[in-house]
Amino acid sequence: MIDTHAHINDRFGVKDIPEIKTILAASNVEESENNIKLAKIHKNLFASVGIHPQQTDPENKQSIDEQLNRLDKLIEDNKKFIVAVGECGLDYSPAPVGESDRSKKEQERLFRGQICLSEKYKLPLIVHARGAVDEVIEILSTYKAFGVFHCYTGGKKRIKKILDLKKKWYFGIDGNLTYEEGLTEVVKNIPKDRLVLETDSPFLTPVPFRGEENKPEYVEYVYKKVAEVWQMSKAKVEKIIDENAKKLFDLNKF
Ligand SMILES: [Zn+2]
Ligand SMILES: [Zn+2]
Repeated sequence: MIDTHAHINDRFGVKDIPEIKTILAASNVEESENNIKLAKIHKNLFASVGIHPQQTDPENKQSIDEQLNRLDKLIEDNKKFIVAVGECGLDYSPAPVGESDRSKKEQERLFRGQICLSEKYKLPLIVHARGAVDEVIEILSTYKAFGVFHCYTGGKKRIKKILDLKKKWYFGIDGNLTYEEGLTEVVKNIPKDRLVLETDSPFLTPVPFRGEENKPEYVEYVYKKVAEVWQMSKAKVEKIIDENAKKLFDLNKF
């Protein structure tokens, strides 16, 4: 099993190192640096570096260009520990209390800057699209980037649009599959070779641990649910999904 999207850092108070292969998603430059540090020490952990459309560094008031330059330098200096750029994208839902409310224009600049970094370093993008899936698809259609729509929220009707993009795109599904009826239909419509699973820890805890803090090991319940939906053994599902994740993030080189 591989958790392709988790946040393991001090900000969230999560300090346990997962026992399964985990890709650490980043929400800002500080988390990006932290992910690299963790990936250097733990062989199970792989770093992504990026800036979430709504989340800024706690102490940082740097301009978008300065932040993008820092990311660029981080990747250049640590390339062999980095498996992806992100999470980045557009989020037009209201920002949670305490997070920045970047304007749509700023979000778009930040997103385009990170798409360019993913192209420059030939790394997959971890895309966060909320309340703006069509806008994200539109932007991506003009680039050569590839990657994953993490915590996919585009419903059945946008799957084909995403599959029609020039490059290969995957769909990331989380623990809410265990309690959101509609997502089952979505999973049925995603080609088996384009699905990866994630926890988005410490959020989106699956049944039977809903209400508690999520952790990468709980991705097991998402695998189990997919096995139910695909009507396949969990072992078989694991083989297919893990192959997808390894391909997308080039994990076999480690
Ligand atoms: Zn996200
Ligand atoms: Zn995330």
